Amino acid sequence: MIQEAITQYLQKQRQVSFSPKAVLFDMDGVLYDSMRFHARAWYETATHHQLISTPELFYLYEGRTGESTINELYQKTFLRDATDEEKKSIYEEKAILFNQYNDGKAMQGAAEVLKKVKASGLQTLVVTGSGQHSLINKLEHTYPGYFKREKMVTAFDVKLEPYLMGLEKAGVKPYEALVVENAPMGIQAGVAAGIFTIAVNTGPLDDRILLDAGADLLYPDMTALAKDWDNLMNAIKIS
Ligand code: CA
Repeated sequence: MIQEAITQYLQKQRQVSFSPKAVLFDMDGVLYDSMRFHARAWYETATHHQLISTPELFYLYEGRTGESTINELYQKTFLRDATDEEKKSIYEEKAILFNQYNDGKAMQGAAEVLKKVKASGLQTLVVTGSGQHSLINKLEHTYPGYFKREKMVTAFDVKLEPYLMGLEKAGVKPYEALVVENAPMGIQAGVAAGIFTIAVNTGPLDDRILLDAGADLLYPDMTALAKDWDNLMNAIKIS
């Protein structure tokens, strides 16, 4: 299955070689088990404002900006755009709830994946659309020695396509990197950047949604990826 995924990737991206030197990790739902707190905070805030949603909807929306998420909810519920004031106050409300709920717990299996990646001699970088200081600042503490600030792409960086910026910061080409993502939009972005994109389905969405977004490989969680890492590296070597 891995070999087939690699062959398909090379054909799809019209690459002749594949030699990973860096892994670009998404943060929420990959390195931190934080998506359920985002979903809960969003759902409760939306309900408070009579906006129609479900907790699962926010897993589909993951990767959108707060403003765009709020606008979608207004369009769905009231068939109009949200005003700037509505966007600002609702986003603030959501952020306060998220910070209240978030326990900052690392994603199970993520430390094992990082250890494997480092042992394979690959760089580790974080690429996230998040602007949550509470988690970004915690990375060095949760995963000591893996993520340098100057090699991080966050919501505070220049608005270039985040994964393209990640490649630039790593100093590698698309065929020299891997992306690890949990969200449909993030997977689409990784694939659009020409990078072999591994989905880890750590949320409630159907596998099909992540595969349809273009994931090259899919694992149920980070522990499964850690267990299969050596197989993946071997398959790449002989491809
Ligand atoms: Ca994510």
